[in-house]
Amino acid sequence: MSVSLFDLFKIGIGPSSSHTVGPMRAAKEFADEALAHPTIGPDIADVEVHLYGSLAATGMGHGTLDAVVLGLEGNDPATIDPTEAWARAKDIDANGGLMLGGRVPVSLRPSTIVLHPLTFLPEHSNGMTFAVLDEDGNELDKRTMFSIGGGFVVDKEELEATRASEAAEGDSASGTEDDVKPIFQSGEELLRVCEENGITVSQAMLMRERQWRTDSEIRQGILDIWAVMEACIERGMQTSGVLPGGLNVRRRAATWHDALQLEDPNHRADNAFEWVSLAALAVNEENAGGGRVVTAPTNGAAGIIPAVMYYALTYLNYDDRDDVIVRFMLAAAAFGSLCKERASISGAEVGCQGEVGSASSMAAAGLAEVMGAKPRQVENAAEIAMEHNLGLTCDPVGGLVQVPCIERNAMGAIKSITAVRFAMRGNGEHFVSFDTVLETMRRTGKDMHEHYKETAMGGLAVTVPVSLPAC
Ligand code: SF4
Repeated sequence: MSVSLFDLFKIGIGPSSSHTVGPMRAAKEFADEALAHPTIGPDIADVEVHLYGSLAATGMGHGTLDAVVLGLEGNDPATIDPTEAWARAKDIDANGGLMLGGRVPVSLRPSTIVLHPLTFLPEHSNGMTFAVLDEDGNELDKRTMFSIGGGFVVDKEELEATRASEAAEGDSASGTEDDVKPIFQSGEELLRVCEENGITVSQAMLMRERQWRTDSEIRQGILDIWAVMEACIERGMQTSGVLPGGLNVRRRAATWHDALQLEDPNHRADNAFEWVSLAALAVNEENAGGGRVVTAPTNGAAGIIPAVMYYALTYLNYDDRDDVIVRFMLAAAAFGSLCKERASISGAEVGCQGEVGSASSMAAAGLAEVMGAKPRQVENAAEIAMEHNLGLTCDPVGGLVQVPCIERNAMGAIKSITAVRFAMRGNGEHFVSFDTVLETMRRTGKDMHEHYKETAMGGLAVTVPVSLPAC
């Protein structure tokens, strides 16, 4: 099982990789396959969708219902225009039906999707079932799918096969369905590859990525991803107003940006943490607003890596900007792939430590790499950033990716930079290894009560009184 950089960084839309991007992808996949089926396709007259567990409990706030109908119409999160998309979902609800695959009229609309917030399917907390019906209401085909975090989607059989292979390999989580054996499967193996070959972490990750793409495809793909991240920071810094969802959370990044720009037009080093926090805030406000973002490795934690890259590009001395971007992203992905393969990047599986913790760890690795750290120092930076996010629960108020998520990204970014400073003061020797801290994160997530795993049934989600508009 091997997770690529391009599995971790995916261009999509906000506000959630597991609750918006994943369900849209699942719905599109189901619709495409059903319509293409030679005997089923011609008889389809309607569609039925059920959402379970976390998707049902917090789906309204995450745009899940709209994402499902948009996916059923054939939209892809990577290419859909966010502004037109949300308007189209409203239109479908108002006018009573969608066009399956963009061509077959059916009656389903967001408000007729059936929600089961208290029913958790045994396989995963983010379950969905899709069924197509003929004109007499008979079921032609049915599929159960799961959004397992970071925009990844699997069906019941794939999930069962993955679990069976995990059980065979030992009690650890794993990544994609890919069969390619990676050149490293742990932090220790990554360090061995670096030391045996006299290469950096980013070079080791490049070797791994070469299994799927050429060097120029990898480089250009990374630069394209960064271009979307950078545009997201810029848009977020210019956009004001109130975020959707009913909490009436006001966007702060634009006002903050205008004031900071006046105070510090030249980005003084002593203001670095302010600018970094602002960049994280800008991205996560864009995400919460349903805008174009890059999952990194999830949408809820999408601001951390762009903000720390912003720090690197603003405050470090370098000759080749593109080279900094490519090396940063490769090193970040080296540790992100291990988070996905050996633990989880999903708030619904392990709480926020899997989202903000993984992103913070990845950003620390990326920054350490471009600051010239040795592989053991890079691994130390990734470990420190993860260690100090252990136990972090997922408890979004009102089920919206806003409070505490937006500020939490700024805190995660600052933690990454501090972790790099710690690591670079040392020689790479340290007490707790990345592998150990990752295993701790996985076990802590396993022990964590379901109330703290993206269900909005614990923590701030219940202690902060809110009254949201009815579904
Ligand atoms: S609290 Fe963390 S895991 Fe939960 S939605 Fe917010 S960012 Fe994601």
